[in-house]
Amino acid sequence: MDSKRIVYMDHAATTYVKPEVLEAMLPYFTEQFGNPSSVYTLGRKSRSAIEEAREKVAKAIGALPEEIYFTGGGSEADNWAIKGAAFANRAKGNHIITSKIEHHAILNTCEFLEKQGFEVTYVSVDENGVIDLEELKNSITDKTILISIMFANNEIGTIQPIEEIGRIAKERGIIFHTDAVQAIGNVEINVKDMNIDMLSLAAHKFYGPKGVGALYVRKGIRIENLIHGGGQERKRRGGTENLPGIVGLGKAIELATADIEGHNARIRALRDRLLNGILEKIPYTKLNGHPEKRLPGNINVSFKFIEGEGLLLLLDQSGIYGSTGSACSSGSLDPSHVLLAIGLPHEIAHGSLRLSLGDKNTEEDVDYVLDVLPKIVQRLRDMSPLYENFIKGGR
Ligand SMILES: *Cc1c(COP(=O)(O)O)cnc(C)c1O
Repeated sequence: MDSKRIVYMDHAATTYVKPEVLEAMLPYFTEQFGNPSSVYTLGRKSRSAIEEAREKVAKAIGALPEEIYFTGGGSEADNWAIKGAAFANRAKGNHIITSKIEHHAILNTCEFLEKQGFEVTYVSVDENGVIDLEELKNSITDKTILISIMFANNEIGTIQPIEEIGRIAKERGIIFHTDAVQAIGNVEINVKDMNIDMLSLAAHKFYGPKGVGALYVRKGIRIENLIHGGGQERKRRGGTENLPGIVGLGKAIELATADIEGHNARIRALRDRLLNGILEKIPYTKLNGHPEKRLPGNINVSFKFIEGEGLLLLLDQSGIYGSTGSACSSGSLDPSHVLLAIGLPHEIAHGSLRLSLGDKNTEEDVDYVLDVLPKIVQRLRDMSPLYENFIKGGR
């Protein structure tokens, strides 16, 4: 290894906690530890801290504070939204529409519901990962109670036409949920303007702590309660609140949404430099996801003739952290369901790499990756029988 440099480019998997966020959280582990349900001063201070965080989350997405429920992360918010809406609206119908490229927190929840007698339509996407709106409209029946389409994809970064989907759902009186875990801090979101009825978010994707998130539920939308217990979260999710986590979420979302444009411009410039360099320096490489409508920090590329796992290992040895497929499906040898849904053949999907840039990445990081990555890809190709055949065949 020619360097001790560490380049973290896996912000779509998780982020570090910003110092300001950690600082805001710390008192709530120590002096300010009171139970928010206690009526004495110490408890009431905790209660105000939670309500302040709720206001911050609401403000960030254009919702009302009483429409925000804190959860134990993004997966929990997704589970609650889907199961909660399905079970509460069963009398109206049993049909749910989602997409083929959702996070497993949505897909596996839908599969569970299929076993409970619900019917689920998984709408296709085009080669850029954009939802087929015609197919979405055509799959609506008078039994459809819920549409859940993610705001931005965690693997390929494609941003969906959320406003249009919101309009379609609203016109037909169908509840619309979006998993916005990747979008917060990267896209301006206003749930009222976009006709979003429910929205999931998770703090650790925007420089907040892990294990805390939120579900926005528009006033008047009926969903089943999540945890039966105490009166917390307006009796819908019982259990003593994750006080420091919630305070951290509030601070993190405030910081992440303060200057989305400025943040995006900086990250996008770095991303484009890295992406253009990769495409220039490494032949037989394809960008996955939409060329423009994508998250500012996201790169997802497929290198022909190699395996993503080998690539990650060699990158790791050089101090570069990225991912292949999605972190959640590591351990499985199936290629990513997202890459298959955009039409990549198995062997190409296997040779894919996601690099997701964040706040602390620098031009030096980009230069370092552009120095190391082409050599590693070439080294792997030199060992690949597929590449050998291809080169021989070409001659
Ligand atoms: C990370 C992620 C989740 C899961 O969030 P957790 O907080 O890890 O449970 C859900 N959806 C998307 C799109 C994600 O990127």
